[in-house]
Amino acid sequence: MKTLRLFFLFTLVSLIALSASYAQKRPNIHILATGGTIAGAGTSTTGTAYTPGQVAISELIAAVPELNEIANITGEQIVRIGSQDMSDEVWLKLAHYLNTLLKRQDVDGVVITHGTDTMEETAFFLNLTVKSNKPIVLVGAMRASTSLSADGPLNLYNAVVTASATESTGRGVLIVMNGLILGAHSAMKMNTIDVQTFQAPNSGALGYVFNGKVHYNQTTDKLHTMQSVFDVTNIETLPKVGIIYSYSNVESDALEALINKGYEGIVHAGVGNGNIHKNLFGKLADASRQGILIVRSSRVPTGPTTLGAEIDDSEYGFIASQELNPQKSRILLMLALTKTKNYKTIQTYFNNY
Ligand code: GLU
Repeated sequence: MKTLRLFFLFTLVSLIALSASYAQKRPNIHILATGGTIAGAGTSTTGTAYTPGQVAISELIAAVPELNEIANITGEQIVRIGSQDMSDEVWLKLAHYLNTLLKRQDVDGVVITHGTDTMEETAFFLNLTVKSNKPIVLVGAMRASTSLSADGPLNLYNAVVTASATESTGRGVLIVMNGLILGAHSAMKMNTIDVQTFQAPNSGALGYVFNGKVHYNQTTDKLHTMQSVFDVTNIETLPKVGIIYSYSNVESDALEALINKGYEGIVHAGVGNGNIHKNLFGKLADASRQGILIVRSSRVPTGPTTLGAEIDDSEYGFIASQELNPQKSRILLMLALTKTKNYKTIQTYFNNY
């Protein structure tokens, strides 16, 4: 009898020890919340009216208890905004914080909840400024947490799965939405209302999440995180860079306003392969001669803006954005201007990042 009791006791102790070591093996994933629709709340389950950023991170985590099966989860609210109000200030705060957080032994990966409107911009900024190989995953939702068939809970689950996977190491900042894993360089919001809004139209998704597992199909050759030369450790404000849009009959008022306001860089969202209306061309060429850095990008969502196509960029000192859309070109130009004003060096950044 005594032997039997001892045997049960031994088995119980072993099981407790085993489950404790299993719990310890789970990665520690820290969630940083910034707001957006994933934390949005409305009064109707079927209507589209809602206010972003209403639900606290603790409630978002509590709504998906399955998260605790894959990782040890902690969460923290950074800001609570619709991402249309995203700013350089919040980006720098996130970059500074992530660079400290990800050095900690007890943090294996980070998930950032974010509005979808500017998610691709935040992802790209962090991709160039955070120095870590650990997974960093941005996630959001297209439907508010109170709506029928809200997409936030599964997106959050898939984001934690991705941040917990060793396969996600060293891939740069990722976006996980509606089952797809996308790279920060190529991800774009492509639809204003659809849950399948994030795509990478130029190069495709890096992979996907299915039944709680990541599946990667490709890696990016673009430089990011550990290979990035951009360091914002001691930077509190970024150089001013604005975007000018080309269209038929465009006049130069908006462009002149940026030049007169002392912008250090201007991204031109051109037509076709970054072409420039004649009403803007001369002014952009003059601005370039005065030392304002000019990047030619395109309002067309797919395909690169190539160097020296219809425009001889070397004659005007213009920079071609390659595959970066205007909003991501603005980010790279701001960071480039923290290092140099040489357009040839900046062109190499656009070729490589
Ligand atoms: N405009 C809000 C934002 O970007 C809500 C859109 C969304 O999250 O899908 O934060």
